[in-house]
Amino acid sequence: MEQFDLIIIGAGISGLSVLEEIKDTGLRVGVIERSQIIGGNALNLSCKATDRCLRCNYCLVISCLKDLTLNNSLDISLGTEVKRIKREKDYFILNAERQSLVIRADLCDGCGRCYEVCPGRDDGAIRRSPHPLVSPPFYIDTERCICDKESKDRICEKECEKGAIVFLPNSQRILFRAKAILLSTGFVPFDPEHIKRFNFSKCPNMITQTELDQMLKLKGGVHRISDGRVPQNMAFIQCVGSRNPKIDKEYCSRVCCGYTLRSVLKISHIHPEMEISVFYMDIQDLGKKDEQLLDQLPQRVRYIRSMPGDMYPSEGDNILIRYYDERENRVVSHIFEMVSLSVGMCGREENFPLFEELNIRPDQDGFLDTDGKDSEGIFICGSCRGPMDVSECVLDAKVVAHDIKRFFNKV
Ligand code: SF4
Ligand code: SF4
Ligand code: SF4
Repeated sequence: MEQFDLIIIGAGISGLSVLEEIKDTGLRVGVIERSQIIGGNALNLSCKATDRCLRCNYCLVISCLKDLTLNNSLDISLGTEVKRIKREKDYFILNAERQSLVIRADLCDGCGRCYEVCPGRDDGAIRRSPHPLVSPPFYIDTERCICDKESKDRICEKECEKGAIVFLPNSQRILFRAKAILLSTGFVPFDPEHIKRFNFSKCPNMITQTELDQMLKLKGGVHRISDGRVPQNMAFIQCVGSRNPKIDKEYCSRVCCGYTLRSVLKISHIHPEMEISVFYMDIQDLGKKDEQLLDQLPQRVRYIRSMPGDMYPSEGDNILIRYYDERENRVVSHIFEMVSLSVGMCGREENFPLFEELNIRPDQDGFLDTDGKDSEGIFICGSCRGPMDVSECVLDAKVVAHDIKRFFNKV
């Protein structure tokens, strides 16, 4: 059994920021991360700087990763999922399972051979780390691996000269014991498939904000999925999976208005000729500085106060959007070559049974609520307790780190 003072469950920006804050306290801290890579959802963001900084705070993520990457003494269990947590006297016992196929960061030299030879690469079986600072440089999604499914030899394992790809015949069970736990399990982006009238799966050039961020990061601009062409026009749809009682998501995800505004500024900087329309209900309070960003929008960007009724696939892999136009006082249809959906932030429902044994239940919006549990050694941080942007997660982490230090008499 591995013993710690504190176990952090979830190595996204919140968990890592707490780790960064307490790393010099002498506490023995372990981190358990379900995926094969640290950074969580924040790592999917991209820098929105144009010819000036737009304060998107992606650099906070990078700076946190940089600081932690320089610290080799970290104890992070990647590809490991907590299956059960129970209280035994003054300790928490965590029963976890480690995935069977992992790339060992300490052995991998980043040669890329595994990526080149993987037959499941295009389906996401093996992926590049989203940032050079994040190690290992490649990671495997076992659920998408096709070698095992097709009963073939694992080509990546055979080709890796460093022996960095480790296959465990069965996923391993591991027990952890800790005096305190921190839940920083993050959020799940809303799945637009749940809104049938958007026809998400039938429109190849309709993507989510997360996919748009990946595209900006990897390709440096916007390109249609179907033919790689830069679209002449593009629509952003706000509040997808938020503020919608019909799908039981009445809360506002708070951060997407600001993310979209920065994305639009970035894209119109890269592609100044592109016509951009943003469909919205109303814009959340952006704060004084960010409101000034609205004044920087070029003329080709139009904010339309209307939510699309339906979206349909149209000729040439375009998307037809029907919406009520306030200016014309009628329902109009417009064809767009690309659409980005600002999907909302949702609580991780699959975690609810895990925390139930500790009497931690979701609030009415599906996020975790641990009020008053600090004295029991249960801490919570970041977007698993409600929608937060990167800077809010980092600030929250500072407060929680202070509470943790107080719990261990380190202040
Ligand atoms: S082949 Fe091995 S050493 Fe090379 S990138 Fe892949 S895992 Fe790393
Ligand atoms: S096992 Fe096969 S499909 Fe999976 S990452 Fe390795 S080469 Fe790709
Ligand atoms: S932040 Fe803006 S886009 Fe996001 S749910 Fe709230 S109003 Fe909609």
